[in-house]
Amino acid sequence: MPPSGYLSAAGVESCLQYLATTYPTFTQLYVLPEKSIEGRTIRALKIAKGSGTDRRAVLFIGGVHARELINPDTIASFALKMCQSYTSNTDLTFGGKTYTAGTIKMLIEGMDIFILPLVNPDGRVYVQSAGGDPWWRKNRNPNPGKPCKGIDLNRNYDFLWSSGIGTSADSCSDVFKGSGAFSEPETRNVRYMLDHFTNICCFMDIHSYSQLVLYPWGDDDNQTTDASMNFQNPVWNGLRGQPGNQYKEFIPSADLNRYVQVGTRIRDAIAAVRGRVYTLEQSIGLYPTTGTSEDYVYSRHFVDAGKRKVEGFTVETALEFQPPYSEALNVIAETTAGMIEFCITCLCLIQFTAGANAALTDELDGIRSFRDEVLMKSAAGRRYAELLDNHTAEVVELMGRDQKLVPRLMEMLQSVNEVTRTYRDKKPKAFDTKMVTAADKLLQGLASKGSARFKQNVEEVRRDLTHFRGRTAAKGLELASRNRKDPAKKETTKKPATKKATAKKASKKKPS
Ligand SMILES: [Zn+2]
Repeated sequence: MPPSGYLSAAGVESCLQYLATTYPTFTQLYVLPEKSIEGRTIRALKIAKGSGTDRRAVLFIGGVHARELINPDTIASFALKMCQSYTSNTDLTFGGKTYTAGTIKMLIEGMDIFILPLVNPDGRVYVQSAGGDPWWRKNRNPNPGKPCKGIDLNRNYDFLWSSGIGTSADSCSDVFKGSGAFSEPETRNVRYMLDHFTNICCFMDIHSYSQLVLYPWGDDDNQTTDASMNFQNPVWNGLRGQPGNQYKEFIPSADLNRYVQVGTRIRDAIAAVRGRVYTLEQSIGLYPTTGTSEDYVYSRHFVDAGKRKVEGFTVETALEFQPPYSEALNVIAETTAGMIEFCITCLCLIQFTAGANAALTDELDGIRSFRDEVLMKSAAGRRYAELLDNHTAEVVELMGRDQKLVPRLMEMLQSVNEVTRTYRDKKPKAFDTKMVTAADKLLQGLASKGSARFKQNVEEVRRDLTHFRGRTAAKGLELASRNRKDPAKKETTKKPATKKATAKKASKKKPS
């Protein structure tokens, strides 16, 4: 029998019921469409105050592998802590890491947090029962006609399922992939969550053990240069899953950067609790895999461009499957910090700020088209978007600590939008000097409370502000882009330039 203290499958279920009845104004219970193989009802819970299709959503799943006992307890505990902090307006402290009540409030009011803490209840019942096997990993499918029971649910998703990489077709194997992708009701429930709640864009599957934070891909080494060398291209069939050969899986470099950046924040949040430094690496660092949840969720938008891009992580907690419960509590604390950090990175600052203001909520589509049609088409604009992405988590924490920042940022966004929303007009509006000065002051105030890197990046943006005084957004972006040191351009200037090119460059240098 496993150590005592861990929740039973029924106990996890009771936690969800308790949360839904105790916090009815901002939680919602969902019965998933399919029961487990043995007929158990599987539920998910949403924690969210307010609604709106624009909100980003995060999904945490756990209990996929039966013997990895800690993680359903962790997810239930995370949900309880979030709900308690929100209703009692108290900070959450995990060892050396604290999240302010203001930060938790922003998360619950600014995004949808979904939990599916026990994907595989049958397996957990078997692990924890007297006649069971404490080291059982798979679900409890009887596999009629086959010698052994159970399917490895984390080899059953539709990502290179047919390849057989890191999976087995033998029912007695611990990595038996099943009779087809999504042959199991338990994995179909996870797919349902993604299909049904289309605002899910962040996903974490929590496993044990090894102290790892893993990101895609799992089938082969990553590469960022050849988009045609990818899991969908049949030319490469048979060559995947052998790190070191010519095949490497394509991942856009912006995505890879984002994974490393978000993963670093998760790792650091975990480490801040009691000094356990998890290893952040590509999934294949563990061993080649296919049919896993993390690769599946991230692959969906490559397969179907109509689907939303989902950032997928797998976290491997602890140093054993079933530590004594006293140690499990430490693991729960550090993992919870990592989960909250992941939520923070998932929150969209613009959407949150606009969503908290009735006057701006209807403007979101307009803000998005401005971003796509103007901002992202200029070098300076792309840089601002990148910086905003890089520093969202830090700004969220600053806002969480100082609630007065929320209305100030809202006001700023509103006045900027008054100008940018006219970008299609014959005579678009210009930023007046007063506005630019106010923006400068706000940025300066933010930077004074932030990290060294944040300060440095804010300085970079503040230097550009002068280009926007009395100018339209498009003109300001054009001037700011022209005056940026573009490392790519610098290199080309080293090459012998033709007269024409030199003349062009000279005109670009004109002071503005
Ligand atoms: Zn696992």
